[in-house]
Amino acid sequence: MDNLSIEDRSPDNPTLEPGLYIVATPIGNLGDMTRRAVEVLGAVAAIACEDTRVTGKLMAHLGIRKPLRRYDDHADVSARDALIAQMRTEPVALVSDAGTPLISDPGYRLVRAAQAEGIMVTSLPGPSALITALTLAGLPTDRFLFGGFLPGKDKARGDVLRELAGVPATLVFYDTGPRLADTLDAMAELLPRREIAVARELTKLFEECRRGSASELAAHYREHPPRGEIVVLAGPQGEAPKPDEAAIDAALYEALARLPVAKAAKEVARATGLDRKDLYVRALALQSDPA
Ligand code: SAM
Repeated sequence: MDNLSIEDRSPDNPTLEPGLYIVATPIGNLGDMTRRAVEVLGAVAAIACEDTRVTGKLMAHLGIRKPLRRYDDHADVSARDALIAQMRTEPVALVSDAGTPLISDPGYRLVRAAQAEGIMVTSLPGPSALITALTLAGLPTDRFLFGGFLPGKDKARGDVLRELAGVPATLVFYDTGPRLADTLDAMAELLPRREIAVARELTKLFEECRRGSASELAAHYREHPPRGEIVVLAGPQGEAPKPDEAAIDAALYEALARLPVAKAAKEVARATGLDRKDLYVRALALQSDPA
């Protein structure tokens, strides 16, 4: 049992206790580095990181020179053992390329291994895209489920979305620009009654957050392929905005001009997430009453 008080671990005390210090770093805006993070990184004996070049740049910006040790949870066990051995006698920090270590980033196995050895482990809170996006999206935050990165392949992504479709909470996923429109199409089909938000380039110059139905957002991002880093959120079921009836009729008319009724209804159902049978009935009515 570790009896140290917060003050004993304070970076104002330049001699840090041996152990593992998990340190969050900015997700884009270097001004988000906390004072405590700077002080701890300045006082540790070594820094374990994902990519020594990325962390090297941050350290150069901070004017801190420390040995950087590349670490990922799948690295060979000897790299982990060497860090554990060092933590027994010296303070060692763990950082990731950006944000909070262990959140879709390495560190979980290192933390477990250190704790199993009775080594002091502490975590300095700071930026994470997950929490930043959640606070910005305007979706309910009382319950949320973080789904990490959705798989890139259609079938695997569909399986995950089907598995989570009934969860009564806001769902949060990390995503990438090239995948975003496909992710939103899959959400239109499989999470039709959830309001969606896309948060992009958080804390950076071109920060953006858009909210709407999955099909509206898919259309937007197909037209404007997004750059940069992305978080996609799906509010709890029942939060979807009311469909715009005129826009749905227009989509049905457009599809009816090319397709038989059943296929037109199916196409619009896919694009809007609305019920295919309801759309079929509406398409029949529109067909007998052309605009
Ligand atoms: N550990 C990090 C954290 O705490 O946010 C996340 C690491 S994960 C490998 C990287 C993903 O986080 C990106 O692909 C993106 O989905 C999300 N992300 C990171 N920075 C972001 C930002 N500034 N804006 C939006 N999403 C971001």
